[in-house]
Amino acid sequence: MADDKKLTPRAEDFSAWYNEVVLRSELADYSPVRGCMVIRPNGYGIWERMQRALDDMFKATGHQNAYFPLFIPESFLHKEAEHVEGFAPEAAVVTHGGGKKLDEPLVVRPTSETIIYSMFAKWVQSYRDLPILMNQWANVVRWEMRTRLFLRTTEFLWQEGHTAHTTHDEAQEETRRMLGVYRDFMEGYIAMPVVTGQKTDAERFAGALRTYSCEAMMQDNKALQAGTSHNLGQNFARAFDLKFQSETGTTEYAWNTSWGVSTRMVGGLVMTHGDDTGLRIPPLLAPIELVIVPIYRTDEERSLVLEAANRITSALGAWERRDPARLRIHVDARDGMKPGAKYYEWELRGVPLRLEIGPRDLAANQGVLVRRDTREKRAVSLDVLGEEVSELLSTIQRDMLATALDRREAHSVREPISYDRFREIMDGEGAFVYAGWCGDPACEAQIKEETKATIRCLPDEEFRSADAPKRCLKCGRPATAEALWAKAY
Ligand SMILES: [Zn+2]
Repeated sequence: MADDKKLTPRAEDFSAWYNEVVLRSELADYSPVRGCMVIRPNGYGIWERMQRALDDMFKATGHQNAYFPLFIPESFLHKEAEHVEGFAPEAAVVTHGGGKKLDEPLVVRPTSETIIYSMFAKWVQSYRDLPILMNQWANVVRWEMRTRLFLRTTEFLWQEGHTAHTTHDEAQEETRRMLGVYRDFMEGYIAMPVVTGQKTDAERFAGALRTYSCEAMMQDNKALQAGTSHNLGQNFARAFDLKFQSETGTTEYAWNTSWGVSTRMVGGLVMTHGDDTGLRIPPLLAPIELVIVPIYRTDEERSLVLEAANRITSALGAWERRDPARLRIHVDARDGMKPGAKYYEWELRGVPLRLEIGPRDLAANQGVLVRRDTREKRAVSLDVLGEEVSELLSTIQRDMLATALDRREAHSVREPISYDRFREIMDGEGAFVYAGWCGDPACEAQIKEETKATIRCLPDEEFRSADAPKRCLKCGRPATAEALWAKAY
């Protein structure tokens, strides 16, 4: 159970605050295996809701789920040169099984391009077999040295979409479509605004033609890469002999895409919305949307108020059946615990809405609704509670996105600045800085070396500044692109 010690304020030490919130709201815990984490029910409940929403969105865009093995023959990883270079250093390799040394070591999947496209190669003969639009929900392992709960762990949960197409353009369209699905999900469900755009070659996925990402700003003004979508070109098709006979009878390599989001998004949710009291969960992802806390002194009051709380719950249940989204309610009937202590605990856990109800409220046929995001309190007649709760939850969901968006824009720099000023910002409170880039990887590498800031993406048009930057932030040569710079997780 949560203790009453105050959290470290965000302004004092954001990283300490983050760890305390994750541990004390019981989202996750450290595991006996270094670098791994245990996702506790409060955290898994959020992940489950994320999965459910995303899975529907994937199906609505024509994808089907499948499952491929955890183990990948080591030789597979070596078939695509860039891919092995990118992933071999962090691979976990199984050398023994059943007490015997294996003929060929097995890699625990860091990502599944190789094994999936080797299977596609077996299934595809003609253009009629394409496109293949598949997704898998799975765990992956990347041996990380510096780990943080949800943000970077050796094993994590994710989904990876894998598709094969007959043309480059179709693959490109798919790559962009899924980036759009991610953005819709992150803004619509996590209430976490993102900037979308293309990665530079230095930040591109190992083996991809082009990588696109969703970049979100956390409350310490650092960026979180929350999802990526890759146009893999024909690189993996060539490596795994994924060919098809075209309509005109020629033999061609297929075009692939892959795209993924992970439990990292739970960390993004915490760092986008949490405050010094704890978590704030957007209603659509909250395992509990409304917690009812009964207030009483005597046994008689207790039975009266509890009975009312249960009546309200089933009334809201009946009411919400007319609504496609089911209302998730919990009555905190724990005895021997003061209401204040219960409030504290549910605030720490980020439940979006609380209903306080005591004997005097009941006499007046009302209850008091308290928003977690703004702490605003309002007495509401029990006759219209269902409508009020439903409307408030929608308002909270909308307001949380608006608040996060305002914060991001307040910490974005779009006016031309000197490189010295840029360094000052990155050394100080940080920001999303939109600035010109000459396209030279040397400038990008030098800035990273000197400031730890990286090009998060070359933003899509709607995020670019009205006046395109003319000069490179670093070298002053003419800019070939506008880049979004920030320190990142
Ligand atoms: Zn330059």
